[in-house]
Amino acid sequence: MPTAEPDPRRRVPRTDAVLADPVLDGATARWGRDRVKRAVVAAQQAAREGRIAPEEVAAAARAALPATATGIRAVLNASGVLLHTNLGRAPLSAAAVDALRVAAGTCDVELDLATGRRGPRGSGVLAALRDAVPGAGATWVANNGAAALALVCAALAGTGGEVVVSRGQLVEIGDGFRIPELIESTGARLRPVGTTNRTHLRDYADAVGPDTAFLLVVHPSNFVVSGFVSAVGVRELAGLGPPVVVDIGSGLLAPHPLLPDEPDAASTLAAGADLVTASGDKLLGGPQAGLLFGGGDRGTALVERVRRFPLARAVRVDKLTLAALEASVDGPPTPVREFLDADPAGLRDRAGALAAALAADGVDATALDTVAGVGGGGAPGVELPSAAVALPERYAAALRAGDPPVLGRIADGRCLLDLRALPSSSDAALAGAVRAVADRPVG
Ligand SMILES: *Cc1c(COP(=O)(O)O)cnc(C)c1O
Repeated sequence: MPTAEPDPRRRVPRTDAVLADPVLDGATARWGRDRVKRAVVAAQQAAREGRIAPEEVAAAARAALPATATGIRAVLNASGVLLHTNLGRAPLSAAAVDALRVAAGTCDVELDLATGRRGPRGSGVLAALRDAVPGAGATWVANNGAAALALVCAALAGTGGEVVVSRGQLVEIGDGFRIPELIESTGARLRPVGTTNRTHLRDYADAVGPDTAFLLVVHPSNFVVSGFVSAVGVRELAGLGPPVVVDIGSGLLAPHPLLPDEPDAASTLAAGADLVTASGDKLLGGPQAGLLFGGGDRGTALVERVRRFPLARAVRVDKLTLAALEASVDGPPTPVREFLDADPAGLRDRAGALAAALAADGVDATALDTVAGVGGGGAPGVELPSAAVALPERYAAALRAGDPPVLGRIADGRCLLDLRALPSSSDAALAGAVRAVADRPVG
């Protein structure tokens, strides 16, 4: 039976017609045919179900494709947590991103162009790390902090040698992973000493014996213990004889005035540590990496032993990490460094300007003084004065679902967009993201 309007479901365009639509021009080159096809099929289904008009299929497919061929999306970090583990910890500097782009192609990561022969892999970043840390005789880079520590344990204690460590430092680092279990998984034997709150030099001294491989100090980087507590410093441990290995966690290379309790690589070596391990993507502000520093003749020789150990090959970093790490150590200040050093008055000015502009557009926005934190397993308890734009709480979910997504934090029934972990260059994008959801906040 003829109808005035043909059923729109019958008018859903065929896949090849959609793929040929100018709206999707270049899409297969950019995202790959399979990915584009999946988006088209989903859009056709939406048209069949009457959720979109048949004419909108190509545009809907285009809109469903991500910004790049990865599903990973850039998120504006307005949480006030400088190193947000769920957001990939440290954002890289523009210099590091440039370095990544160069290394992404074929590059001389392991070729000596002068001779045409194999060259030392990672020599640039290893030299940069040595230069940045006075007292480091040798350096090495593994996949992450946990890999660096596991490698040290496997290489120096993996055949049943004892790792002497305070019970107060047998910590869980996140996602259920625990330092003691990590150590034991390498074949090393754990020799816990002292108690949760107090460990003394004599506890270590009593435990040292022929089986001792090294004394380990783990910085409790994600919690603080206060009250009746006592721990032994690196300097005292260094006098006991066995090598001292210190996992400082955050990767500060030198002391930072705002983080007086955060250990740094240079001071830890100066205090007598033989080996220092650290992460690359925490306070150092670089890519995910595990750093290893050796101090003095013994520490330098230990780095050599560790990097020659077979497992070292299994936790070797790729050229992208080498490039981005070198640019982060040797290049301009990293974003994390700039967030740390940000002037609170400047943050307050930015929050005031943003709130005023949004309020002028009818958004219920005010500026607020806040307290930000380092996060990401570093500098627990450190409070960084900051400023935020405060919005009604329902904005939090709408902003996460927006484009670009924004992660704020909820406090006292309001959604706070904290500026401490955002460069000023993203203020316009932040305001745009708020405006885009202002008419239709969910929640
Ligand atoms: C973060 C951390 C680790 C783990 O480092 P990753 O780079 O995340 O593998 C180990 N030890 C300490 C003390 C840490 O803070």
